Amino acid sequence: MTAVGTPPRDLLIDGELVGPSDGATLPVVDPSIGEVVREVWLGGPAEAEAAIAASRRAFDEGPWPHLPVAERAAALHRLGDLIEADTGRFTDLVATEVGTPRLIAEAGQVRRPMDHYRDMIDRGARGLDRELADLPGPPRSRQIIAREPRGVVSAITPWNAPHLLNLWKVAPGLVTGNTMVLKPSPEAPGCALLLGELALEAGLPAGVLNVITGGGEVGRLMVGDPRVDMIAFTGSSGVGRGIAATAGGSLKHALLELGGKSALLALPDADVPSMVAAAMRFVTLAGQGCGLLTRILVPDSLHDRVVAAFVAALGKVRVGSAHDPQTMMGPVISAGELGRIEASLADAVHEGASIAFGGKRPDVPGNGYFLEPTLLVDVRNDMTVAREEIFGPVISVIRYSGDPDEGVALANDSEYGLVGAVWTRDVDLGVRLARRIRAGQVRVNATASTTEGPFGGYKQSGVGRECGDLGVAEYTEIKYLGWGDA
Ligand code: NAD
Repeated sequence: MTAVGTPPRDLLIDGELVGPSDGATLPVVDPSIGEVVREVWLGGPAEAEAAIAASRRAFDEGPWPHLPVAERAAALHRLGDLIEADTGRFTDLVATEVGTPRLIAEAGQVRRPMDHYRDMIDRGARGLDRELADLPGPPRSRQIIAREPRGVVSAITPWNAPHLLNLWKVAPGLVTGNTMVLKPSPEAPGCALLLGELALEAGLPAGVLNVITGGGEVGRLMVGDPRVDMIAFTGSSGVGRGIAATAGGSLKHALLELGGKSALLALPDADVPSMVAAAMRFVTLAGQGCGLLTRILVPDSLHDRVVAAFVAALGKVRVGSAHDPQTMMGPVISAGELGRIEASLADAVHEGASIAFGGKRPDVPGNGYFLEPTLLVDVRNDMTVAREEIFGPVISVIRYSGDPDEGVALANDSEYGLVGAVWTRDVDLGVRLARRIRAGQVRVNATASTTEGPFGGYKQSGVGRECGDLGVAEYTEIKYLGWGDA
């Protein structure tokens, strides 16, 4: 791990590190201790205006959109080298601002996203144009489907995986020749600000990447501004719907990565230990991940075994400060979120669910926002806790008969459709059922994918895909281009 340096504070606007015109600051809270640990500059309407203007200029006047793609890719790989050299600072920012345990943050939130970053730059550099068969004529003409940058992109990210989601937007957006304004969540601004500092050091031309802070007000300006051509948003479905409506008013392209309530469908022949191990991944982000499997659909015949296996696994989870190397699960993001999650648990119990494990605030020194990892049983799929995103360390076991059709119907009985999983020893059946689950990523007896696997949702989980060729293509317009012999 590299050394931890000074935390970033400045905004990046038009190639300069600046503070806001009104001198406003944004306090940053470490959720492991429940205290403000530093302040960064807080952007407002003036900074949104300046950043959008700079981005527009950098796109319209170039040279960025018209550089050979290899030059853009080289500049972005230089930035990648600087990001990798600063692994320690990024890890520290994720641990301090989000509460992700340091080792998990470094592996999953800092190093792994670099694989995506490099992969998307290389995909962009290979070019996405496609040749069509010649038109026989006369005159004989060549024809291609060309991919061109959309223009100015407003990228807006949430707090739960800030560095990963910033990189998922910046890499495909910039390599394809767009210019960008990036706004992170006010809860976790550090990674974006550090990215801005490094972009300057890497020599990206002024205005190509601008980084500002701010909340919903700044985000709304970034979405509504007529100089912006595309929105790349990750966040809640409610905010996403509002963004889609505003973007629709001016027909901007909107890439929306939203919430989830994903199901793991266990068939009666499922291998219980590997299935429980897969579902236990929810503790790594204290349940604050969009694609976590939070509805565990269990056949009656396996119910007691599955619950016992979960209880045993949950009993081994060490909850504590993100800065303690022994910690397996850190805090949730804020006191407000902790209260909201506890209220959801109380509602679930009121509706008939039971807490089989957890549900209380563990004894951790300091004023951090900790909740035990929690297993709910006796949950029905029509209960609020099974329908709404809890975004905390809570999973629910929902019983069903073991009939695969009933299982698929339950998995699909959700307004969300981000991720899904099927666990069975009958792999052919598993794949057939996975095809019927209406979600953007569905796995059978597995939890991982390579960097080219596209990520995104059906239904209220979003519109469009990130990562892989499809994710890079989101940032491009499609142009038919034909030319004949003179
Ligand atoms: P959020 O929707 O509250 O905020 C996300 C971002 O939008 C923040 O930067 C926020 O300042 C900004 N924002 C808020 N109101 C806005 C508005 N009216 N116009 C423009 N921007 C606005 O989400 P959050 O609480 O930061 O993050 C948690 C949510 O993100 C969860 O719902 C989670 O499922 C979702 N998420 C989805 C994915 C995915 O890839 N599908 C990944 C991670 C998180």
